[in-house]
Amino acid sequence: MRREEQWAQMIYAKFHTKSGDMIKYHRRSSVWPGIKFGEPITKPFIGWIIGNGKKIDFWRDTWATSIPLQEHIDLPNHLWKLCTAKVSDFINPDGWKFPTDISLTLLAMCINISSITCNPNSEDIQIWKPDIHGDFLVKIAFESTRDRLDTAWRLKYTWLQCLHRGLSRFAWKLMNQILPTDDLIQRKGIQLASICNYCGLTAESANHLFFECNTAKVIWSWATSTFNIAVVAENDSWKQILDKTKALSLYLNDL
Ligand SMILES: [Zn+2]
Repeated sequence: MRREEQWAQMIYAKFHTKSGDMIKYHRRSSVWPGIKFGEPITKPFIGWIIGNGKKIDFWRDTWATSIPLQEHIDLPNHLWKLCTAKVSDFINPDGWKFPTDISLTLLAMCINISSITCNPNSEDIQIWKPDIHGDFLVKIAFESTRDRLDTAWRLKYTWLQCLHRGLSRFAWKLMNQILPTDDLIQRKGIQLASICNYCGLTAESANHLFFECNTAKVIWSWATSTFNIAVVAENDSWKQILDKTKALSLYLNDL
């Protein structure tokens, strides 16, 4: 499975826009629903050995972290069409060369670019991370994504038609524990003073914001009593909480 292979180029051209985003409308294909289902599950396992960066899409490929940079940023589709940078746009013969605004953006995403190597004199190599040689084999792919299928419930709950894309993205980050809360940013070695914006009593963490904080408790108790679902406990997992809503009417469940 390499981007330069002909079938990969054919499938890519058929189902992506010129700027590299997946198409939103339907195109008849028997294999596509499977690929579409597999893409978010397999994407974190695809990595790059960065050479001159010419083959790597700056926003849409997983070259810096296990999720594409695009997932960190909320932009309307017509603006994403304009984002066609390649990683090579930020590499000169001596190595990385970022304008200040992009450096700050990377910093805000907790990406320490000096820890990522590039080699301006060689080609980029796409790798399948679970294999020691970086080669894609269906057997290894199945083994390494089987565990992730277990987390496919998150897809079911987060990428709903009725949810705004920004909300879906927020929920997705929350459930994958990559929401940039202060504690997470501090763990990446970036110094900042942290205080919960709602109660002002303690430092900000996802757990505090969504469970421990008094503001959160008020919202949970409102939601659970209004929709008549089981009380949410502080140590409930997101899956447990979302599963509680199964008892709701289909209409509310969709919401
Ligand atoms: Zn608080």
